[in-house]
Amino acid sequence: MVQQLVDAAHQCFAGVGEGEVADYIPALAAANPDHFGICIAASDGQLVAAGQAEQPFSIQSISKPFLFALICQAIGEDSAKEKLGVNSTGLPFNSVLAVERSGEGLSNPMVNAGAIAATSLAPGDSAEAKWAFIEAGFSRFAGRPLEIDATVYASERVTNQSNVGIATLLSAQERLWFDPEISTDLYTRQCSLSITTRDLALMAATLGNGGRQPVSGDQVVDPVICQHVLAVMVTAGLYETSGDWLYDTGLPGKSGVSGGMITVIPGKGGLATFSPPLDGAGNSVRGQLTAQYLSERLGLNLFASRPAT
Ligand code: GLU
Repeated sequence: MVQQLVDAAHQCFAGVGEGEVADYIPALAAANPDHFGICIAASDGQLVAAGQAEQPFSIQSISKPFLFALICQAIGEDSAKEKLGVNSTGLPFNSVLAVERSGEGLSNPMVNAGAIAATSLAPGDSAEAKWAFIEAGFSRFAGRPLEIDATVYASERVTNQSNVGIATLLSAQERLWFDPEISTDLYTRQCSLSITTRDLALMAATLGNGGRQPVSGDQVVDPVICQHVLAVMVTAGLYETSGDWLYDTGLPGKSGVSGGMITVIPGKGGLATFSPPLDGAGNSVRGQLTAQYLSERLGLNLFASRPAT
């Protein structure tokens, strides 16, 4: 039944022509707008897919919940909350104003400032040691060794001045725990990791499965950490339209500018989609339609409320 619904969603939304492919990172503009992959990974490791679920693309902002999970595991979830902040900024993901407005440099690990600050907290006292921690952690979530998309990394590296600016401002507010340029570079590397829709479904399913990777059985982070990560995804996973998303799906999600999107179904699994055309807020158009379609038909909304029988 799940396969039939996933196939039906693919058929229903493949023809949707709305949205624009992101081009502020030049390499992303080369994405094929027709690519459309869907994959569901159940908590027991079963996979159901349709379309281009094996097409590689860069993870971009979908790295943020996984990085936050790894940092919570490394420094403790209370310390991570106190250092990074967990409230929604209500401003775009790359907003400098959001950092200034909070007065103390707190934002949210789902936007760039919070994610760069989180990157700076990775264990290790050199860029390479921190990168080894990040790369290994992401690979454990995926259940296979992940590599950087060198073209995307090179392209983003020369166009990420505003992220360097955010990191410098955070550093001035004593909200960065490593060199601003190196922290930004590590963040950029992590955003350039190449994944597929299938990888993302398993990564999302790991967050929904108390931190245990469904296929490898690896306990990547503690269950309580997943609970906090999912809460933060609800506050800001879909940029400024996170409220609309929650209203429509009732599930924690995270999107990224390369067109990927994850939806976590706690206790059941993870849904991932890939379709590059984005709406005005930066969320994949077909990804949102698919998540809403499947959430409704599979009865996944966490806020579902019915009279007691
Ligand atoms: N690496 C991208 C940036 O920092 C990620 C943006 C996103 O996916 O939201 O601009």
